[in-house]
Amino acid sequence: MLHFFYGVMGSSKTAMLLMQRYNYIAQGLHVALVKPAIDTRIDHNTVYSRVGLNACADIVLEPGHSIREQLYWLAVRNGHNDFPYVFVDEAQFLTEEQVQEMADMSDTHEFFCYGLKTDFQSNFFPGSSALLRLAEDIGEVPGGLCWCGCKATMNTRIDGQGNVIKEGAQVLIDNQQEIRYIGLCYKHWKLGVSHGPVSE
Ligand SMILES: [Zn+2]
Repeated sequence: MLHFFYGVMGSSKTAMLLMQRYNYIAQGLHVALVKPAIDTRIDHNTVYSRVGLNACADIVLEPGHSIREQLYWLAVRNGHNDFPYVFVDEAQFLTEEQVQEMADMSDTHEFFCYGLKTDFQSNFFPGSSALLRLAEDIGEVPGGLCWCGCKATMNTRIDGQGNVIKEGAQVLIDNQQEIRYIGLCYKHWKLGVSHGPVSE
């Protein structure tokens, strides 16, 4: 089955992924941890969560990679028949083709994809758009909060001074500026207010 769990920035998606993955490992099941190569938050292989849980990805998926082939070679390297349980972090960065491939394999594999639904301009990422179309099980990772205490639903790009940025490329690679992402409620995202009066 193909699962998609989406959540806003700061909703501890990766921590949830790593905890769920642990339950499968504890049962002795063969689990593969996958991340798209575009995520460079820490280093190439690390799956990193803000609450402190980390793990090393088994597969770093480049945009041109076939997940079927990558899982095959992982199984060969480890002397297993297969890795039927696959956890994908930052799944919004998957390509449409990779999501289609997972859907086609979902009768024999469990794919647990965690990621953002929309970008800082509230547009779909290619991966999340494909997952929302094709996933058989879709759920929200709750817990993301705006500074005002309301539920955060909007991913927001801010600069080093906390100014909300509404223009630019969907993904910034090797970006020299001090850019961060936070979750805001719709109202504060629309108004472009990234913090309360007392937080400065
Ligand atoms: Zn708010």
